[in-house]
Amino acid sequence: MTAVPPVVYYFFAVMKGLPAETDFVVIGPSVAGLRAAIELAAAGSVLVLAKKDLPSFKTQDPKSEAAWLSDEDEVSLHLQDTLDAGDGLCNVAAVKMLLEEAPERIDELIAWGKHHGTKLTFGLENPHSKASVLHAEGQSAGREILRGVWEKAQSLKQITIAPFTFVTGLVTEDGRVRAVSVLDQNGVPHEIACSAVLLATGGFGQIYRNTTNPDWATADGVAIAVRAGAEVGDMEFVQFHPTALYMKKVPRFLLSEKLRAEGAYLRNFELDRFMAKYHPLAERAPQNLVVRAIVHEMEVSRAKDPFVYLDLTDMKASVVQKHFPRIYSAFMAHNIDITEDVIPVRPAAHYCVGGVRTDLDGKTSVAGLFAAGEVAATGVHGGNRLPSNAVLEGLVFGARAGRAMREIEKGAPKTAAEPQAAYSNGPVDAGVEELIGQIQDLMWNEVGIVRTRTGMQKAIKTLEDMAPKLAQPKTRRRHEAANLHLAALLVAKSALAREESRGSHYRMDNPDHDDKKFLKHSIVKNGIVRFA
Ligand SMILES: Cc1cc2nc3c(=O)[nH]c(=O)nc-3n(C[C@H](O)[C@H](O)[C@H](O)COP(=O)(O)OP(=O)(O)OC[C@H]3O[C@@H](n4cnc5c(N)ncnc54)[C@H](O)[C@@H]3O)c2cc1C
Repeated sequence: MTAVPPVVYYFFAVMKGLPAETDFVVIGPSVAGLRAAIELAAAGSVLVLAKKDLPSFKTQDPKSEAAWLSDEDEVSLHLQDTLDAGDGLCNVAAVKMLLEEAPERIDELIAWGKHHGTKLTFGLENPHSKASVLHAEGQSAGREILRGVWEKAQSLKQITIAPFTFVTGLVTEDGRVRAVSVLDQNGVPHEIACSAVLLATGGFGQIYRNTTNPDWATADGVAIAVRAGAEVGDMEFVQFHPTALYMKKVPRFLLSEKLRAEGAYLRNFELDRFMAKYHPLAERAPQNLVVRAIVHEMEVSRAKDPFVYLDLTDMKASVVQKHFPRIYSAFMAHNIDITEDVIPVRPAAHYCVGGVRTDLDGKTSVAGLFAAGEVAATGVHGGNRLPSNAVLEGLVFGARAGRAMREIEKGAPKTAAEPQAAYSNGPVDAGVEELIGQIQDLMWNEVGIVRTRTGMQKAIKTLEDMAPKLAQPKTRRRHEAANLHLAALLVAKSALAREESRGSHYRMDNPDHDDKKFLKHSIVKNGIVRFA
């Protein structure tokens, strides 16, 4: 047996106070953000801003491990599957770049991780389809990747991290980014001057009532970029996962789609199987179709709080335990034996395909502003994402953005504004949760899985009427509410403009493709949607 070296935990140079200036700002200590920071460290000082606490890799507790359970629990590369999922809209150059550069990014991560016992291994699994799959000794590969970039970034003294620092906006001069505006952990506003900024803020799934996304996914990156004048694109494409757990007081973790492939059934409120009514492949039907079938069954049940069941009880317990050990033990940690009980599930918003438009080096349409990871729209996912390659996207395009940012000419530093009086960061922020709840319900009901012209028009009108209540935010939560509101409007307007169904965007009034008009990406600038 090979001896596994002990895991060593370091701590970054964590900020005591915020600097007035730095060479580069990275917003988000994520896979994309940290991978970019590693590149940037060779060219100057890098300040990574994190609105939350820093990630911890210390625990093996199955309950907290459940947060890392993923749809396919997989990080892998599949050219044809990526193009098929994208439904005609993938930027083929971006997909090829992802596939060509990912092995190098992973090999380097494995090499960096040698001294701290990385669990990552990467191999060609299917020579015919050139599919490569990353393994992490039964752990989450995504989590191991984050641990790898985290530990490498910690070892570089040019990188500093400021936790609980919330970015509210960008300061631009003559059309280029010169500084970021933040609220520090006491709610005091500051400006930090810099040469270039990377948005690595993740997605915006929190615009929906039901989502698998973490609570930080409040569209901050998209909103910050739009207010600075950047273009966003493909905002109508939001991927919904069919089977997120729906139980009170238990996290909404995902039930892998592979469970259905290996024999799990879907049952409605009356415990009847229903998928065969919708598709000859029944539970193995394409993801979008399964999601819509579940929505229909929930509607016809007329239940106040509808859901359906995922039933694994016909599968051999030994198969469930062997093939899905992390899902099995995550449920057992909540005293639920999934080999004996049916599991209540609902679809949930899962991945934001659209975002801030970038080229293949992360450059946005605003000078000095870059984006990478889920916040960016490179076109790599087309109209829908293949579940397994988002983390690799962050690694590959994060590194590319970092290298491109190094080339930015360092202008004369802008004089940072003096810190102002503190605003309240406290939990009491009258009415804001209610406003956020209204946005989430509206988007879930009118611009969710099945969309109609009248529903989307209603959503846009309601959101526009709501705008004055969200003007001039001062607290963090108010900023998040304003950001969710802006992203919701962008999604609704883009979805209304795309008068066809494609990828994850389904319209009951236009159920087919219209390649002549819409084999194009949507682009929003100054509130106007166009296709190119
Ligand atoms: C449950 C689940 C399972 C998944 N499974 C898979 C899988 O199997 N394979 C796969 O490839 N992908 C998977 N994904 C998708 C993938 O995890 C995400 O796309 C990816 O983690 C996004 O990474 P990112 O680097 O873009 O940003 P994130 O990891 O989302 O991080 C964003 C960071 O930005 C910070 N931030 C945001 N706003 C601000 C602000 N205003 N100021 C300061 N900091 C800010 C946040 O606090 C956070 O630290 C899954 C996603 C979920 C939710």
